[in-house]
Amino acid sequence: MATETTTTELTDGFHLVVDALKLNGIDTIYGLVGIPITDLARLWQAEGGRFIGFRHEQHAGNAAAIAGYLTQKPGICLTVSAPGFLNGLTALANATTNCFPMILISGSSEREIVDLQQGDYEEMDQLNAARPYAKAAYRVLHAEDIGIGVARAIRAAVSGRPGGVYLDLPAKLLAQAIDAERGRQSLVKVVDPAPRQIPAADAVARALDVLKGAKRPLILLGKGAAYAQADAAIRALVEKSGIPYLPMSMAKGLLPDDHAQSASAARSYVLAEADVVMLVGARLNWLLSHGKGKTWGAPVPKRFIQVDIAPTEIDSNVAIAAPVIGDIGSCVEALVAGIGAGFPKPDAQWLGAIAERKAKNAAKMAETLAKDPVPMNFHSALRAIRDVLAPRPDIYVVNEGANTLDFARSIIDMREPRKRLDSGTWGIMGIGMGFAIGASVTTGKQVVAIEGDSAFGFSGMEVETICRYNLPVCIVVFNNNGVYRGTDVNPTGGKDVAPTVFVKGARYDRMMEAFGGIGRNAATPAELTAALNEAIASGRPTLINAVIDEAAGTESGRIGNLNPQSAAKKK
Ligand code: ADP
Repeated sequence: MATETTTTELTDGFHLVVDALKLNGIDTIYGLVGIPITDLARLWQAEGGRFIGFRHEQHAGNAAAIAGYLTQKPGICLTVSAPGFLNGLTALANATTNCFPMILISGSSEREIVDLQQGDYEEMDQLNAARPYAKAAYRVLHAEDIGIGVARAIRAAVSGRPGGVYLDLPAKLLAQAIDAERGRQSLVKVVDPAPRQIPAADAVARALDVLKGAKRPLILLGKGAAYAQADAAIRALVEKSGIPYLPMSMAKGLLPDDHAQSASAARSYVLAEADVVMLVGARLNWLLSHGKGKTWGAPVPKRFIQVDIAPTEIDSNVAIAAPVIGDIGSCVEALVAGIGAGFPKPDAQWLGAIAERKAKNAAKMAETLAKDPVPMNFHSALRAIRDVLAPRPDIYVVNEGANTLDFARSIIDMREPRKRLDSGTWGIMGIGMGFAIGASVTTGKQVVAIEGDSAFGFSGMEVETICRYNLPVCIVVFNNNGVYRGTDVNPTGGKDVAPTVFVKGARYDRMMEAFGGIGRNAATPAELTAALNEAIASGRPTLINAVIDEAAGTESGRIGNLNPQSAAKKK
């Protein structure tokens, strides 16, 4: 009798995770290695994947999140257990808040030990910790479930309203061996991960009716509209209707900021005076004063049309007269189809009043920008940057800070969609280097990060990462010696400086030089112009220390009203 030899080929959790991601078109992982995921990163690279290693997980997570925003594919962040996971969780929560698709994959301790709290190395109940901050959270316990786990994570991240997903991979799972053929068959290639969601015809008709009844209509474009990559349809909506529009910060460039219908330079006027506002992928959160109060010209109520993929967003702050639920591309196309030749044009008086406000505000801004104070202030430094960037609309602009954020948002015009990446929905500091690296790795394009000195501090160590991968990233640090400004004093006269003050005259440029990049100190607009031009021409990692008057800058930038003390004083 012949003996049967069973030489079964085996695979394991490590290989199945790599195979599952690759099968779904993932090509890059952002992360930071350590127990138990180092070998996963090694294998990923060995199998042809790109692994971008960071110095802190939060920035790897932010890079993954912005990659997700730019590509509509979930950005992947890989971390170790407990502390690494928690560092990544900040970015996951921020991605969820901003509707960016991202998957945080963390190694973890064994459930048996975690659940009995027996004190493992880096023990933590990560799945439960992640749940409240993620759109979805999953754990895989068996190697044959990895394919399904990855598929669920991808679909949850990108379908409907995008968001952050947590995927928990216990160390034992990664080493689990199973039959290779069984493993192969368990993998899932996700079909149509973000299905189109077509709006109902009656919802579209209702929205068009509300719009027809408007005397002073306004379109408000949010970063959901930018994310949707429905650029041509959105342009058609604006241009066919003739309605003035306002872009939210990250929607700048969806239509060029110098577009005749942009009402940016008349923002307060149009928000207060419009009678019908159509929100397209924008939420009525704090950034829009919750749709209420003086900003919106209350007590006169406005009528809102809201185009969004998430039905629960509707009526979140004020009553919405006409919700249009669906993906932005489909919704906007349906609306455009309903705007025929007979569609009423916005009132000429309304357009004239906006044009007048725009011209007045633009002249005022031009006057402020023409000044050349010594040392530089935010305006003169931003004028220099604006002029260098003007002929290069393809450059990605990352922007964070307080005053640096507020002023750059209005001074630096964007002319292409999804080129402005900033503090987003939470208005947070710390996204700078993560976003810069994510954008540059994903697109291969030049990035200019305009950073407040305080904001830069949160992710500054990632200049080493930028140098290590030789990325075309130029960081401009607006150095005014402190948070908001550098002039506060300790009222007791004690030896500690005031809470807002940093080392005076710091040379951030030398941080870049320490890792082989280019550092420049710029004390005048001319020096800043020269250094930025040089950085862009060379494509080399560069940090420009822009010396700003330490007395320039206001407390909390434009959101000083949110400081409890100033708010109390106002009462
Ligand atoms: P902004 O801060 O620019 O106002 P938000 O992030 O507050 O923008 O709002 C984005 C909105 O866009 C969210 O309510 C989200 O549900 C929605 N959104 C995101 N992607 C899409 C999409 N593809 N189609 C429709 N709506 C979307």
